[in-house]
Amino acid sequence: MNILLVEDEPAIREMVCMALERAGFRINVAADAEEAERRVADALPDLILLDWMLPTVSGIELARRLRRDEYTREVPIIMLTARSEEDDRIRGLEVGADDYITKPFSTRELIARIKAVMRRTQAHGDDGLIELGGIRLDTASHRVTIETKPVDMGPTEFRLLHFFMSHPERVYSRNQLLDMVWGRGTYVEERTVDVHIRRLRKALSISGQDRYIQTVRGTGYRFSTQV
Ligand code: CA
Repeated sequence: MNILLVEDEPAIREMVCMALERAGFRINVAADAEEAERRVADALPDLILLDWMLPTVSGIELARRLRRDEYTREVPIIMLTARSEEDDRIRGLEVGADDYITKPFSTRELIARIKAVMRRTQAHGDDGLIELGGIRLDTASHRVTIETKPVDMGPTEFRLLHFFMSHPERVYSRNQLLDMVWGRGTYVEERTVDVHIRRLRKALSISGQDRYIQTVRGTGYRFSTQV
């Protein structure tokens, strides 16, 4: 498991490197966004720890770039930041960070977060299978089954479900869903999301799994098996 740490402060770099190496991770470091991009181009890491406040190009801007790029879009990102305001947290998640940790943090907390993010994102790792709440989604064959019954759905519903199942228990706004599922820069109205949510619910309703696609009033949608 290879981790890329992007951090301009040598003391934090050293502390994180030592702790992660001791925990059995391989770790590469970059002091700024440019170096990070070179390292990522050399070898795709399994996870990126990304400092928010970097010289020249900020961590948030780098996260945005990584998410836009087909090659790096799936790499989990944990933002490291000195700011703990809710707004920043949301901004970090909005550009596609998978989690967020506030400085100062203990190395124990950091390792726990890394493991949690890896568990979440690798749920669909090797064999391309995600199973959650009785739904089985196969990314290789683009098939969805519920209790061995095949579920019919269009490609957009499939992508939407794939996104939800890879990011369960989190609320996404329509705008975020458009970015993540339809892709940035697509010119689609927010209402379109509702249409596809409706179709997805209909497809999942054969065994009642439509209840996992939850409307969060005033915010957006969430996939949750904790009904
Ligand atoms: Ca910094």
